[in-house]
Amino acid sequence: MTDGSVSSTGVTVRPDEPAPTMQSRDPRTGRVLGTFADMDPAAVAARVDRARQVQPDWAARSPAERGRHLLRIRAALVDAGPDITRLAAEETGKQQATAYFELFAACAMLTWASRNVERALRPERRSSYPVASKRVWVDYAPFGVVGVIPPWNYPVGIPFQSLPYALGAGNTAVMKPSELATLTGQRLAEAVNAAGIELVQLVTGGAKAGDALVRAPVDMIAFTGSPATARHILRSAAESLTPVLLELGGKDPMVVAPDADPRRAARAATAAAFFNAGQTCMSTERAIVCDPLQDEFVRHAATIARSVRLGPGDDSQVGPLTRADQVPILESRIADAVAKGATLVAGGRTRTDLGRGGWLEPTVLDGVTPEMDIFHLESFGPILSVVRARDVEEAVRLANDSQMGLTSSVFTADRATGRAIAAQLEAGGVNINDVMLGAAMAAVPFGGNKDSGFGRLQGVEGFRAFSQSRAVTEDRLPGMSPMISMMFHGKRLPSPRTLQRALRAMFGRGR
Ligand code: ADP
Repeated sequence: MTDGSVSSTGVTVRPDEPAPTMQSRDPRTGRVLGTFADMDPAAVAARVDRARQVQPDWAARSPAERGRHLLRIRAALVDAGPDITRLAAEETGKQQATAYFELFAACAMLTWASRNVERALRPERRSSYPVASKRVWVDYAPFGVVGVIPPWNYPVGIPFQSLPYALGAGNTAVMKPSELATLTGQRLAEAVNAAGIELVQLVTGGAKAGDALVRAPVDMIAFTGSPATARHILRSAAESLTPVLLELGGKDPMVVAPDADPRRAARAATAAAFFNAGQTCMSTERAIVCDPLQDEFVRHAATIARSVRLGPGDDSQVGPLTRADQVPILESRIADAVAKGATLVAGGRTRTDLGRGGWLEPTVLDGVTPEMDIFHLESFGPILSVVRARDVEEAVRLANDSQMGLTSSVFTADRATGRAIAAQLEAGGVNINDVMLGAAMAAVPFGGNKDSGFGRLQGVEGFRAFSQSRAVTEDRLPGMSPMISMMFHGKRLPSPRTLQRALRAMFGRGR
């Protein structure tokens, strides 16, 4: 885009203009941490070109070799640990320990991917039914270049829900980190490439740069973010028919069965709701508590919420919202719930004495119902809504009364009850007597139903999501003529009567 023309994203680009820069800031202080280019479509295309140059050599290595390289990447991440986690803490306002938890998860993903890439992508024999004369297997080829667009809330962990599997499958990647966590993303890409192969190209910028990446000739997009942005991405990807994998957040329910320990459930629900200032796609947002446990659950949750240390330092438990512009949105959701009959039992105020940024107190709302906005809309802050249900049946109905379906949990003293409730929850994952485990286990698929997205990251499913399956057939015996050629061998086609008889003989049973 060097001729002053209008790009595919509608942005006019002039050749002599330096790339505009964007700033990364610490939300706790407003301090500028660094600047980065807001890349135009030409710069984005150059990164995609570079990724495409590197890809064939990488894909030509065996899965075992690629697996060994993933461990070199892991070592480079470990070496860069202090840097990566400090940047993530500064850019998002989270405690450095929280960023370290993400790094542990990233390293676990790389470890499992390294050990399992060969098995997950090994060609698989399949039945050749109904063509008896053939042998057939399925193998897995990389897409080529994968565009990875992660959000800001877990800038270290989330990219590694995609990268180990995408790279392991033989793709290279172009990553566009969130404009709120670009320095972290840049440091991650440097670490990956420091392992000796330039497997990840970095695109920097905001929504326009992200859109340019979707419209660039990438072979697939893996996006984690909001449903609203996902709709833009799908529209742009429609132009080029680029496949898209979407992980889009949740409104995760916890069903607390009548036989559960309400204190244990309240401990888990508050931890999941407040961790990372509640900015977690699989945080527990709705605790749906059955009779007669509600009062004890609420009492305990409120006590915990009031005891949480809110503040800027590494010794706090909850930091500021990364985006202060979320404060009025969350405040209005709390006000809407209270106006419609919910009780604010803890928190609910925004502290202005703790510095810049959005310091929403850990909040517990009791008596939340489907009439309230907060029942349905994902709320990226430390808020736990308690929903009262008569019994398990009503609790399951309320849990599933959501446009989203990422993960969910159930608390019960009985194994059979746990499994029975789990089987009814409409979500990509269910934790029985625990919360938020999905993204901690590298071998299991992660992703959601309904507006929480489609496709799965991690596990064998993750490797397959970043691969194109290919069916290869061959003759069982040499010298056989191709199947279809019987149509043109001068013989007459079988009569409809004969074919109907054959059809009945083969498939006529089963009434
Ligand atoms: P979040 O608010 O959780 O960060 P978003 O959906 O707003 O979620 O953003 C996630 C990522 O998507 C960020 O890297 C952002 O820059 C990028 N992005 C935003 N708009 C677009 C778009 N239209 N096309 C591609 N990427 C986009």
